[in-house]
Amino acid sequence: MVKSKIQRLLDEIESEYKYTCSITGKDTLAPKVKDALLAIPRDEFVPKSYSDSAFYNGPLPIGHGQTISQPYIVAIMTDLLELESDDVVLEIGTGSGYQAAILSQLCKQVYTIEYVPALADMAKSHFEKLGYNNIECKAGNGYDGWPEHAPYDAIIVTAAASQIPGPLIEQLKPGGRMVIPVGLPYMTQELVLVKKDEHGQLEYSDILGVVFVPFQEERGE
Ligand code: SAH
Repeated sequence: MVKSKIQRLLDEIESEYKYTCSITGKDTLAPKVKDALLAIPRDEFVPKSYSDSAFYNGPLPIGHGQTISQPYIVAIMTDLLELESDDVVLEIGTGSGYQAAILSQLCKQVYTIEYVPALADMAKSHFEKLGYNNIECKAGNGYDGWPEHAPYDAIIVTAAASQIPGPLIEQLKPGGRMVIPVGLPYMTQELVLVKKDEHGQLEYSDILGVVFVPFQEERGE
């Protein structure tokens, strides 16, 4: 039952990949991202009252004015990070914990920071219940990253920032990738892919228009 719902969701994600391919340059979901989506029960990460909608390709409320991202967006952001099994990843904006759980299937260790303490606690309880023991979650402002575990092979930000926080750029490893929605809150933002080459040079690519909840307490220049 749940399996067929996930399969239908994967079909929808694949057709959205095809539909957006001319702007994203990606026409097929990477097989290992697909496997991760199949492995993680999204219904465990949404409030009980939304269980029936857990396998629709849309965002859902998770309380505290926040949302679990649309599965297509989770897929493409994960895909863009091109994770390897021994990578260490930083996520800013744990929310429900679903995105972190997907990442945990594809890398060695995930560190994730959530601004709202109650959401951080909820996500931790999901990780514990489901036995994902390569995810460490803490409550706090992710603007400064998590220097203790830096540098990271990949960084993913799931809240919209008006500019890319400097500390996150610093904590990205040479050869690393970051995805972040950049733009004003409550409007369409641009999903930006940042690549840092082996010499520390940065390359920015605009991928897609997206709508994310705001990045809290952003300290811009
Ligand atoms: N990745 C999440 C999506 C959560 S929505 C998921 O899979 O469910 C974005 C989250 O970013 C919200 O929970 C919000 O509280 C959090 N957030 C916003 N600003 C933040 C900041 N400065 N530091 C850490 N988390 C932040």
